Amino acid sequence: MRKRCEEQIERLAIGSPLDVAALCERLAEQRGRPLHLLALTSRTSNPSGLWVAAKKADYIFYDESVGEAHRAHIVLHEVGHMVFAHAGVAELDDLTARLLAPNLDPKVVRQLLCRDSYDNEHEQEAELFATLVLMRAGFEVVGTVTPEVPDPELERLREVLSA
Ligand SMILES: [Zn+2]
Repeated sequence: MRKRCEEQIERLAIGSPLDVAALCERLAEQRGRPLHLLALTSRTSNPSGLWVAAKKADYIFYDESVGEAHRAHIVLHEVGHMVFAHAGVAELDDLTARLLAPNLDPKVVRQLLCRDSYDNEHEQEAELFATLVLMRAGFEVVGTVTPEVPDPELERLREVLSA
């Protein structure tokens, strides 16, 4: 697992200090599709992030209620899911998914609502990736993760997630 992480870290040319925004740009380039970072205010006691692979773009939602270092860790964790091509669980039926977020692919909604638990292998791998990236960067993080103005289509999704 550690070797897989190191390989991805090489590919992403991570140095110190770490520029999270620049890293996301490189990743988007490698994947050939845009990657958007969107702030989210969650009301859960466990602030986290979420990767959504939509049809034409990737979105990383991150909790804005935490400090900058933690924010970077959250984004890196989701980047970990992306580079290892992890996927969400499929449990929610299409109809319910459409009711919740009419403009989104039901598959996407499913990923949102059926998050993996922290004890599975994918979560461990994403966590290890995030930690190793920060270690490689000597825990020096620059480039504030700034919220983007979201696509109107995503407003509903933000509402669902913030609820
Ligand atoms: Zn995760």
